[in-house]
Amino acid sequence: MGITNIMELIEFRPRRYLDRGKVSPINKLVPDEKATVFGEIVSKKITARGRRRLIVTIYDGYGLLDAIWFNQVHYFDKIFKERQTAAFSGKVTFFKSWQIIHPDFDIINESRQMLHTGHIIPLYPGSETLRKAGLNSYGMRRIISSVLRKYRENIVENLPAYLVKRYKLIKRSDAFQQLHFPESEKLLEQTLRRFKYEELFFLELLMALRKHFYKTPVKGIQMNIDNNRIKKAVDSLPYDLTDAQRKVLSEMYKDLRSRYPMNRLLQGDVGSGKTVVALLNLLMVVSSGFQSALMAPTEILAQQHYFNIINILNADEVKIALLIGSLRDGDKKVLHEKIGNGEIDLVIGTHALIQGNVQFKKLGLVIIDEQHRFGVMQRAELVKKGFNPHVLVMTATPIPRSLALTLYGDLDLSIIDELPPGRQKIKTHWRTEEKLNLIYGFVRQKVKDGQQAYIVYPLIEESEKLDLKAAKVAYRRLSKEIFPEYKLALLHGRLKIEEKEKVMQLFKKGNIDILVSTTVIEVGVDVPNATIMLIEHAERFGLNQLHQLRGRVGRGAKESHCILITPENINETAQQRMAIMQKTNNGFVIADEDLRIRGSGEFFGTRQHGIPDLNYADLILDHKIVKVARDDAFGIIKKDPKLRLPAHTNCRDYFKGKYFEKFQLGNIA
Ligand code: ADP
Ligand code: MG
Repeated sequence: MGITNIMELIEFRPRRYLDRGKVSPINKLVPDEKATVFGEIVSKKITARGRRRLIVTIYDGYGLLDAIWFNQVHYFDKIFKERQTAAFSGKVTFFKSWQIIHPDFDIINESRQMLHTGHIIPLYPGSETLRKAGLNSYGMRRIISSVLRKYRENIVENLPAYLVKRYKLIKRSDAFQQLHFPESEKLLEQTLRRFKYEELFFLELLMALRKHFYKTPVKGIQMNIDNNRIKKAVDSLPYDLTDAQRKVLSEMYKDLRSRYPMNRLLQGDVGSGKTVVALLNLLMVVSSGFQSALMAPTEILAQQHYFNIINILNADEVKIALLIGSLRDGDKKVLHEKIGNGEIDLVIGTHALIQGNVQFKKLGLVIIDEQHRFGVMQRAELVKKGFNPHVLVMTATPIPRSLALTLYGDLDLSIIDELPPGRQKIKTHWRTEEKLNLIYGFVRQKVKDGQQAYIVYPLIEESEKLDLKAAKVAYRRLSKEIFPEYKLALLHGRLKIEEKEKVMQLFKKGNIDILVSTTVIEVGVDVPNATIMLIEHAERFGLNQLHQLRGRVGRGAKESHCILITPENINETAQQRMAIMQKTNNGFVIADEDLRIRGSGEFFGTRQHGIPDLNYADLILDHKIVKVARDDAFGIIKKDPKLRLPAHTNCRDYFKGKYFEKFQLGNIA
């Protein structure tokens, strides 16, 4: 479980608590309602009458209940023993006896006398391995109880005493006792409140320290931008820049010409036109005689940026290269050389850009597109290729301001808050699979009118092979049976880059009518004549992914449709996602809803941001505590940046032990 020492064992957080007050006595059960029951296992048998099943019967002093398994009978048979105490949760039915089929369960302890200790019982996360070794929640409790008895006095307070006092926080050593052996619900609540504050305090301390030490200005490269060339490029665009684009560009222009490196996050909803802003930044730096680089998360996207920029720029004036993993080694080597000796001004690429042997002559600007797709280390790798280069990261995932402060506290923020004019609202429809034939008819109609469509199949990493197979089968059926009169192509991540490129180019030119694809087109792809986005198994996608996919259409002047197909029965959160997609096209609203459904932890993968995992607090749900902790931490660092005051010694020691490595990540955006 990742536990390697005593303190980590003490910090091991129970997965949940079984509140004995909330357990139903068996004589008070209601059929067809969910309940948790709790009692001693009085019998266990496998019966072969009818369908084979395992029946585990418990008695709670009020009545008997059968927990029943039809699957993996032998596996579960080994888990339960008579006279153990177990808790079962699930929907209760009555059929000759009280029953729960395939319940969630916990084995609480093995002896009668433990039964009446404590009202609230901690249940620990278990793993298959632990279970096989016979270490269940009860075992964990025994171990932790003995460890706490021995070492509790060694647990030191890590927060400044005056803060503990100010917020009436429960002492750290007491908090661990209560975490594992809560005496009451109220004390447990106070304990969790303490750990939330503690966690957020150190997170914000980390942010405050990063800001303090890394924001002390390092000297950057002052760009000497050739305004005429920029103006020429802007004039050659087939459209006028929006006011929002102009505003963010002027912010970046100022940064690039200042003595300090730009360190900026560009936010803008899908389709708001971030690419051209990036390209103009690249050009500003190149026009000053420095190299610039743009890193994108997929090869398709890198290619698209590459062709875009070639369209805008005169290739005689600017030497542009595309550096992606699937190039032949020989070609890569040639590129590496040219980048190294400065023959190439502007490099667009994927992760291939951060491979060790890529060496720039004078890298002035690094841009990361769809930054949430990269980890903080990968960004760092690219930034390291230059000497304090300017850095611009771009994202289509908007986040609330308070959260942005914590996650990107050390970045300046630019926001494109309007879409280019003339965009049609995308109509979103949610339909079940039975309607597919009707939908295909609708697609046929649109294609007949000369429009193009995407049909997307999920490709989830864990089941990649199966999914890919499913996508291929579907593709064959679509092209042979459903749309034999049209040109279809299949696009997926496993194709060779030349093939991907060919398919994308043909689709762009309109030579392919319907592009069947896995999620490789999720980010960035831009084909204005495509007006239909049909997503099969939409229930398997997250909200942001769906919004990104939808953003592939609605890029031209024609009315666009996004059609979400799901099976009839999908779970509640999937239903919520579909409903939200139908309700709004606004990326900010979607991001908010996504946060509400999932909590911020899952949404961001805090690790990507170089911030510690949060075990107790949630950056969204606990935003009030975030604010207080942030003010406290920033206040402290302002007064005592090296934490030298006696009141801060404990907090410095704890921080050094736990966060120092993360602190060092702070100089890399
Ligand atoms: P994203 O912000 O999602 O990366 P893109 O940069 O791909 O969006 O832009 C989406 C589409 O909008 C592209 O086809 C682009 O050419 C077009 N576009 C960008 N800026 C403007 C503008 N000011 N006016 C009209 N169309 C624009
Ligand atoms: Mg983009």
